[in-house]
Amino acid sequence: KAAMEKIIWRKSQQMQGEQLIWQQSPEGRKMMEFRSSLPAYKEKDAILSAILQNQVVIISGETGCGKTTQIPQFILESEINSIRGAMCNIICTQPRRISAMSVSERIAAERGEKLGDTVGYKVRLEGMKGRDTHLLFCTTGILLRRLLADRNLKGVTHVIVDEIHERGMNEDFLLIVLKDLLPRRPELRLILMSATLDAELFSSYFGGAPMVHIPGFTYPVQTHFLENILERTGYQLTPYNQIDDYGMEKMWKMSKQAPRKRKSQIVSVVEEALKAADFKDYSAQTRESLSCWNPDCLGFNLIEYLLCYICENERPGAVLVFLTGWEDICSLKDKLQGHPVVGDTSQVLLLACHGSMASEEQKLIFDKPEDGIRKIVLATNIAETSITINDVVFVIDCGKAKETSYDALNNTPCLLPSWISKVSAQQRRGRAGRVQPGECYHLYPRCVYDAFADYQLPEILRTPLQSLCLQIKSLKLGSISEFLSRALQSPEYLAVQNAIEYLKIIGALDETENLTVLGRYLTMLPMEPKLGKMLILGAILNCLDPILSVVSALSVRDPFLTPMDKKDLAEAAKAHFSRDYSDHLALVRAFEGWKVADRDLAGYEYCWKNFLSVQSMKAIDSLRKEFYSLLKDIGLVDSNPVTYNTWSYDEHLLRAIICYGLYPGICSVVHNEKSFSLKTMEDGQVLLYSNSVNARDSRIPYPWLVFNEKIKVNSIFLRDSTAVSDSVLLLFGGAISKGDMDGHLKMLGGYLEFYMEPATEELYQSLKRELEEFIQT
Ligand code: ADP
Ligand code: MG
Repeated sequence: KAAMEKIIWRKSQQMQGEQLIWQQSPEGRKMMEFRSSLPAYKEKDAILSAILQNQVVIISGETGCGKTTQIPQFILESEINSIRGAMCNIICTQPRRISAMSVSERIAAERGEKLGDTVGYKVRLEGMKGRDTHLLFCTTGILLRRLLADRNLKGVTHVIVDEIHERGMNEDFLLIVLKDLLPRRPELRLILMSATLDAELFSSYFGGAPMVHIPGFTYPVQTHFLENILERTGYQLTPYNQIDDYGMEKMWKMSKQAPRKRKSQIVSVVEEALKAADFKDYSAQTRESLSCWNPDCLGFNLIEYLLCYICENERPGAVLVFLTGWEDICSLKDKLQGHPVVGDTSQVLLLACHGSMASEEQKLIFDKPEDGIRKIVLATNIAETSITINDVVFVIDCGKAKETSYDALNNTPCLLPSWISKVSAQQRRGRAGRVQPGECYHLYPRCVYDAFADYQLPEILRTPLQSLCLQIKSLKLGSISEFLSRALQSPEYLAVQNAIEYLKIIGALDETENLTVLGRYLTMLPMEPKLGKMLILGAILNCLDPILSVVSALSVRDPFLTPMDKKDLAEAAKAHFSRDYSDHLALVRAFEGWKVADRDLAGYEYCWKNFLSVQSMKAIDSLRKEFYSLLKDIGLVDSNPVTYNTWSYDEHLLRAIICYGLYPGICSVVHNEKSFSLKTMEDGQVLLYSNSVNARDSRIPYPWLVFNEKIKVNSIFLRDSTAVSDSVLLLFGGAISKGDMDGHLKMLGGYLEFYMEPATEELYQSLKRELEEFIQT
């Protein structure tokens, strides 16, 4: 032990020496100057002594004050400089992979070191960390994964949970786990960091833990809402862009999901907003069309105009545009590149800031451009608090946010864009006043802002809990409802019960709420359980490629576009992909067609002709790769495409797999004289969206439709459906139809035996048992 201590002490001495040399070099001196100018630096002693004296400390401070880059370093430095030497092992979590990567890179640069030496990072499928790494940045999902194998976080001395104000589901979940862990690890230190002043909530959750606030400073920011923007810039709303407002459909959707009381309020807000912005008659017909309107056809006209206005009329300074997701960022970037002013590279440096960008591009975001060049950064809400761009003077805020991260262990992918909270809007506005007085353009009327919630509801209260419940089970944390009752804010009893019930129905949990074999596999796939089920079965039954396409397509925005003025043409184009009563298989065909066209550099043309979104196609393409490598990690597929695609062209089998995933999302097809009607058990009569391939045919030759989404507008509409037969439903769904079972079963039992290849013996056996049990009952 003594020898070990001596080695550590010597190593620390060496690190101290290296830092001293670095800090005296010209670059190092400049870095130190910058670091000590940050507000966090002035609180260094207060922060360190609070951490020394308390097991849990909560630190709040405005975005950009130096929480993320400085506080972990303070701890690291004080450890290195302590008498016992660097015995520390600090883990700092970030909600998104891009911030884990960029922050660790920045800190390594501040210390004049290579990334992966003292400072490293780890995100899914990627990482940079070495033997001497004492400070590790990782996503919250990665830390949760580590807890799976190492319940006491052996050897970890400090856990820093960053961006807790975002109240992501993973972070809330992690806090419950850590709260349980603290008594078992009395020497472990927990530091929570927040960009807003809601520290009391966390403090009382941790028994009155002390709070340290870092006072900040920003310049005043002038605020313009939509009505002022129109007045100031002279922008005219034309008939086309009356429905071109940013994501109006999504607002509409939110109103469907909101509790009843808020619904009427939101609907009237929409109406007010439309009136305020001088939208024409908001008739019942518009309302209908809004509900099926796809935001991909929005032209971003106003943003384009505004950027041009700023470039031509405003003082120098970078522009930061907040959009909902990277698909929108790419579309807008494509559009702007052709603009005579904004697209002129001698005047404008147009950059994107989102999770999947290359690190070269990342660096440009932080750099000040040459004189006379205006930097425009298109960003998601990552630039709200996790990343600070110093020279921003103008902010354009679309008012929406969408969280998509495929990184987290438990992920509810593809959340709909919804209106942000007042706090978020203020954060966005604040980004304009870092270096001088700024301007903020909110692309929505004041009355919409007034109707924003003060804070965004924590994710745990607003999203389905199925994946979370699976994760609680996989971490062996006991009863789901008991565990969740100890959350910072517990989800409703009903929400928890619904999730458990659903997991039992789909066969992920058994009657006593324990994980089944299927459930265990689902916890390894960061997507909705229904999509995970499809993937697993697609892999086992060797028809992976088309199922990868379906699952990826369902994880991104609908690639089929329906522009208002070309609705019929668009629907006909989609019908062209369908021969077999399935929107899902139409997706597969559309994607496969694009792949072929894209190889001949005709991808754009293909999309244009077929009313498909290029961005969605690209997103599907990259997700497919990601999901494939996940399946490989888990051991469900090997790398031979011939094997795992043996049955990829068997449309009946594909149908069965889709049914296996989407069950219990099922409705019956009731034929009458000329057409058919649809019924579900819970809702009675339901309708199809007009862009469904099944809506175009008067006879569906199957008795059932499986669907992946139900949306209530005036009636209940089903989005994306696939027709299936009795027997498929019997074998791959549940016991809905009790008609002529025996005959079907005999035949299909053989069919399944024939197809099933034991990819993993255990899973195969479990499916088979399930099937046999089912046949017996
Ligand atoms: P906080 O976490 O409090 O929001 P940060 O620690 O992320 O603040 O950032 C502190 C300062 O460091 C900011 O002014 C920011 O501009 C600067 N900074 C952070 N990351 C980088 C980077 N990659 N390149 C240049 N400057 C950066
Ligand atoms: Mg930060």
